[in-house]
Order: sequence, then C-alpha cells, then structure tokens
Amino acid sequence: MTERLKGKRVLVTAAGQGIGRASAIAMAKEGAQVFATDINLEGLSSIRDGNLENIEIFEMDVLSDDSVREGVKRADPNVLFNCAGFVHHGTILDSTDDELEFASNLNVRSMVRTIKASLPGMLERGEGSIINMSSALGSIIGAPNRFIYGTTKAAVVGLTKSVAVDFITQGIRCNCICPGTVDSPSWRNRVDALGEQLGSREKALAQFVARQPMGRVAKAEEIAALVVYLASDESAFTTGHTHIIDGGWSGQ
Ligand code: NAD
Repeated sequence: MTERLKGKRVLVTAAGQGIGRASAIAMAKEGAQVFATDINLEGLSSIRDGNLENIEIFEMDVLSDDSVREGVKRADPNVLFNCAGFVHHGTILDSTDDELEFASNLNVRSMVRTIKASLPGMLERGEGSIINMSSALGSIIGAPNRFIYGTTKAAVVGLTKSVAVDFITQGIRCNCICPGTVDSPSWRNRVDALGEQLGSREKALAQFVARQPMGRVAKAEEIAALVVYLASDESAFTTGHTHIIDGGWSGQ
C-alpha cells in the first residue's frame, strides 16, 4: 500500500458499483480512511471482500437530507466524492417532467446536499477537496438521446465552478470529472436495452464503442486513478476545473 492519501477522510456516494466502487477501493489502497456509501447495500458489502480495513460502509441515500446529514456527521470528510447519477434515454421531446425532476434531484441537488453538509467542517479545518461526477457528454460534447442526462451533467460544471470560486481562499478545492463511456453495471444495462431496440447486443456495443476513438470504453479503475489524484495534495493547485478523461472522444 502506498500512502498518497494518508490522513484523508473520504466520503464516497454511489460506491456500491462502477466508478464509485473502484474509486473507494483505489483511495483506500492509497491509505485514506474511506466511507463508502450507497443505497445498494449488497454492492457495498462486496467492497469488503478486498480485506481493506480502512473502508467503512454504510447506507446513505443522496436524495434524503436526513440521510446525507447523518452520513456526513459520521464521516466528517476532508474529501468528498459525489459520484451518484442516473442516465435517461431520449430527446427533449421524449422527456417528462417527472424524469427531469428525478435527474435534477439525483444528478445535481444530491451534490448540493452533500456539499452543504460537508463544507462547514472543511471550512473549520481550512482544508477540503470536493470532486463532482459530471460527464464529457453534455458538459463537453453532445450525444444523441441524452437530453436530460446532458442537461443535468452540464449543471454539475456550473455548480463546481461556483463552489470553487466562493471558497478558493479558504483551503477548499472543487473539481469535476468528465468521463467518456465507462464499463459499469448500468452501462451494460444500457447496452442491453439498445441491443433490444437494434435487434442485436453486438450492434449496440459497436455504437457505444464507435464514439470512443481509441476503439474501447474506459475501465472504472482508469477514472478512479483521476479521483485519487484530485483527492490528493498532488492536485493542490487545481480547482474549478472540468477534468476530461474520455479516450479522445471530445479532443478530436
Ligand atoms: P452505476 O450507474 O452502475 O451505479 C450507480 C450507483 O449509484 C448504484 O450503486 C446505485 O445504487 C447508486 N445510487 C442510485 N441512487 C442512489 C441514491 N439515491 N443514493 C445513493 N446511491 C445511489 O455507476 P457508473 O456507471 O460508474 O456511474 C457513476 C457515475 O459516473 C454517475 O454519476 C454517472 O452518471 C457517471 N458517469 C458514468 C459514465 C459511464 O459510462 N458509466 C460516464 C460518465 C459519467
């Protein structure tokens, strides 16, 4: 175990699977005390299979003020990784008010909740790194049938920059991550769903991979490596930025 994150108390949302899970494990391997949270307790409990003693797991629903308040009190974090998010399919004409409301709440307001709860402790200590999960999609580059997702993930960029600038002189950093397509359980479900529409999973997979110039999607661990960097003091001069990690998708 190396110790790039020694002394860090990290609260991770949506750590039950995918990028959140990979990041919780990567940060624990770097010596952080990690508080891995989700509403999916089954996914969370498998994190313990790696025998990392410095990961504590508990249920935290980012849609609930009370649950977030309790979770933040327990973790008392100096690093917060806001990873929870959901992808809706469709154009603006397909979108419903309920879907937009749900995504605004899960993809954006959840971060307002966790940041509001965590900032007072960070400010008291004069130290904090907040990492928000945005996406290359929406904030950097458009993609078909992702109206609600793109809209809400772009809002994460504004939220990030606002928090960064308001607290920049008080030891708080706030950055966001903009990944391209990443292999995760929910992404696999999206491939299956598109495969049903197109009549073949292979065709669906080819469509997802086609937008990634490297000819492959990312591994969750590749995004986790960036999370570790932003959590660590190695990134001490970085705040208010969109960190793009998209296999060249938006850089062509
Ligand atoms: P995922 O979608 O497979 O898993 C999401 C996790 O969020 C699940 O464990 C789920 O239980 C949890 N969750 C859902 N509602 C919650 C709530 N109310 N409170 C707490 N946890 C809740 O994981 P993923 O695909 O790695 O995505 C993680 C984040 O990365 C999301 O914000 C997503 O939008 C973003 N992202 C993903 C990709 C991708 O291609 N997978 C690309 C760019 C950005």
